[in-house]
Amino acid sequence: MEEKRPVKRVRFAPSPTGYLHIGSARTAYFNWLFAKKASGSFILRIEDTDIARHIEESINSLTDSLKWLGLDPDEGYGAGGGLGPYRQSQRRDIYTHYAHRLLADKKAYRCFCTPQKLAQERQKSEKGEKTYKYDRHCLKLEDQEKRRLSKEVPYAIRIRLPDDYDIRFFDGVYGKISVNTKQLDDFIILRSNGLPTYNFSAALDDALMEITDVIRGEDHLSNTPKQIIILELLDFPIPAFTHLPMILGQDGQKLSKRHGSVSIEEYRKQGILPEAILNYLALLGWAYSEDQDVFSIREAVDRFCLSDINKKPARFDYQKLLWLNGAYIRKMDQKRLAEMVSTQVRETLDKENLLKDWDRDFDQKIIRIVPLVRERIKTVSEVINWVAPFFSKLDYSSQAITFFDKKKIDAPKVLKKTIEILEEKEDFQSQNIENTLRKTAEDMGLSLRNYTLVLRMALWGSKVSPPLFDTISILGKDLTLSRLKDYLKRIGSKA
Ligand code: GLU
Ligand code: ZN
Repeated sequence: MEEKRPVKRVRFAPSPTGYLHIGSARTAYFNWLFAKKASGSFILRIEDTDIARHIEESINSLTDSLKWLGLDPDEGYGAGGGLGPYRQSQRRDIYTHYAHRLLADKKAYRCFCTPQKLAQERQKSEKGEKTYKYDRHCLKLEDQEKRRLSKEVPYAIRIRLPDDYDIRFFDGVYGKISVNTKQLDDFIILRSNGLPTYNFSAALDDALMEITDVIRGEDHLSNTPKQIIILELLDFPIPAFTHLPMILGQDGQKLSKRHGSVSIEEYRKQGILPEAILNYLALLGWAYSEDQDVFSIREAVDRFCLSDINKKPARFDYQKLLWLNGAYIRKMDQKRLAEMVSTQVRETLDKENLLKDWDRDFDQKIIRIVPLVRERIKTVSEVINWVAPFFSKLDYSSQAITFFDKKKIDAPKVLKKTIEILEEKEDFQSQNIENTLRKTAEDMGLSLRNYTLVLRMALWGSKVSPPLFDTISILGKDLTLSRLKDYLKRIGSKA
C-alpha cells in the first residue's frame, strides 16, 4: 500500500521591525508557491518577542502588504488555526516550559554570569583573534553554589551541547552541511529577562506548529545547526531546510534604496501592480524557463520547485521590475486599470488647480482616456502626466508660449480658423472631428503634422499629447474652445 505522505506545512515568520521589503516578500512568496504547489498550508507567524517599538504598526503594514500581494495565509496570525497562538509574544509560557524541560533533563543549565563579565571575555578573545566561545563557567559550578545563586541573581538558560558531535543536514540549495558542536558554544536559549532567543523560539515553534519545510533567507543558514540541535535534544522531528540566496544590487553591493529597492507599500504607491511584483520576485533566484520572463501566478505554482533555485546571489533590477509592470499594464483588464487610474488621479491631482466641473463625467472620461495612454506608461502613477490635463487647468510654460516664434507656421491664423470651424460643430465624436480638422488643414494648405502641432500646443501645452482627435473629443467643445482661445491670447499678447 502506498504510504500517506505528510501534508506540507511551511511558514513565513517575519519580525515586525518595519515594512515588507523585497527580500522578505520573496521569502513569503516562495513559501506560498511551495505550499500551493504541494496543496499544503502557508502559515504566518509573527516573531515579536524581542521588539519594543512600533510593533502594531509594523504588523499591520506587513499583513496589509501580504494581503495586497495576494499572499494570504491559510493558517496563522490573522487566519486562525489549531496550533496557535501565532504571535510569539503570546507564547512565552511555552518557551519557559520547554527551557525548563531541558534543564530538568540536564540538556541545559543556568548561567549566572553578568552581561559585563561576558562582554569582557568576548573582548578578550576577540583581541586574541579567536572567535568567542562561552567558557562553561556556570556548568562547572558546585551544585550548592548553583542553588544559592539561583535564589540571588537572575539567570539565563544555556543549552548544553553534546561534545564533539556532528550536526548534519541537507539544505535544499546549499546541499550537505555538517557542523561539529566544537565549532559552537553553549548558546543562550532563555535570557535572564525570561525572553527566548530567536533560535530557541523559532526552532520550537517550527516543531510545535508542525512545519515540514523551512524556507528562508540565506542569512539564517548559520542558525540552522543551532535550531537542529535544539530539536534533537527535545526529540522533535527536524524539518527540511532550504535557504534562499541573497539579493544584491546591480553593482553587487548590499541591496538598498539607491538600487530602487523600497518597501512593497512604496511600490504600491508608485503604481506597480502586485502581479508584476510577484512575477519579478519569482525571477530572483528562480526561473520559470530560460526564455520566458513573463508568466502568471498559476504557471509559477505549477512549475515551482525548490531544487531549481540558484545558489548564486540574485541581483535586483528595478528597471526590469518597471518593464514587467508595463507589460502587465498592457495586458490588464481595461476596467480594472481604469479603476486604478481613477484612484491614482483622485489622490494625486492638485485640488487647487482642478477645473470647476472636473468631477462631472469623471469615471466615463477615465474609461475613454485609459486606452489612449496605456501603451505609454510603465507605472500607474506615471499616468498622471497623461491624464491630469484633462481635468486641471493648463499652465502654458514660457517655451510653450514662444514655441511658434521662430517657426514658419502662422499659429494665430490656425487657431482663429479652427475656433471658427469648431464653434459651428455640435458633433464632437473623434472620427467626426478628425474628418473636419483634416479638411481644415488641407484648406489652409498645411501639412497635417504642422497643423496638429499648433493644436497640441494649445490643448496640451506640449508637442506630445495623447492621440489628438480623441483628446479633443474627450475634452469636449467648451474646454477645447476655451483652450484654443486662451492660447491664442497668450501667444498674441506676449510681446
Ligand atoms: N524572524 C526571522 C526574520 O525575520 C525569521 C527567520 C526564520 O524564518 O526562521 O528574519
Ligand atoms: Zn555563566
